[in-house]
Amino acid sequence: MKLTILGSGTSTGVPQLRCACDVCTSSDPRDKRLRTSALVEFKGKNILIDCGPDFRQQMLRLGSPALDALFVTHHHYDHLGGIDDLRPYCMDNPSGFPIFCREDVADIIHDRMSYCFGEKHYPGSPRLDLNVIDDKSFSPFAGIDITPLPVMHTPSLPITGFKIGPLCYITDCKIMPDKTLRLIEGCDTLVINALRHEAHPSHMNLADALDVITMTRPKRAILTHFAHQIGRYADVQPTLPANVTMAYDGLTIDI
Ligand SMILES: [Zn+2]
Ligand SMILES: [Zn+2]
Ligand SMILES: [Zn+2]
Repeated sequence: MKLTILGSGTSTGVPQLRCACDVCTSSDPRDKRLRTSALVEFKGKNILIDCGPDFRQQMLRLGSPALDALFVTHHHYDHLGGIDDLRPYCMDNPSGFPIFCREDVADIIHDRMSYCFGEKHYPGSPRLDLNVIDDKSFSPFAGIDITPLPVMHTPSLPITGFKIGPLCYITDCKIMPDKTLRLIEGCDTLVINALRHEAHPSHMNLADALDVITMTRPKRAILTHFAHQIGRYADVQPTLPANVTMAYDGLTIDI
């Protein structure tokens, strides 16, 4: 399995518009963060996790690789604002490009992009094949079983992460249910969000993410979905435990 971090920034991206802080003006490419997304190459399939507003730029950086499916964690713009740019990928899929997401997310995609569906289908718009998942494992392809990882973005907003073979990928989590802690326990690689140092109402901060890592003991953990307040990569990375890495855009890991 190969994991590529396509974006590691929060909803504003880093640099944040109209900010001149040390992080936003850093010349280190690891401090330039597009919106959070990842590409997972597993058993011959390329799975995109989230398709935010920087999707097109992220694909161009990688030389426009083939994609076989999109898994969406939740409905926020920074995680699905780029779906219209899937159009060129739909040409390979006459029945529609496969998207796997919760029912609430599918309803929102359907509403926001009504021109892509049914009688209203606008010629040339993407053909999307929405597949609704719940908390049960699903098989998007023969021989590949995916386990959804239910987490809470806020106390009233359930969203999902994904367990794909040895990888557990969770973003935009604030509260991790016990059931999900058990599902990720002892995994090889855990990707988990860590917005900043200060507490936040809908995202784990660095201390929260490190607590989850201590509790679940993955071999390796990768932090993602950073705001500029996290600090510069070169200052923060040396403060982390040996098995914890800050994601940066373009980071690739063989798992
Ligand atoms: Zn987000
Ligand atoms: Zn800033
Ligand atoms: Zn969100």
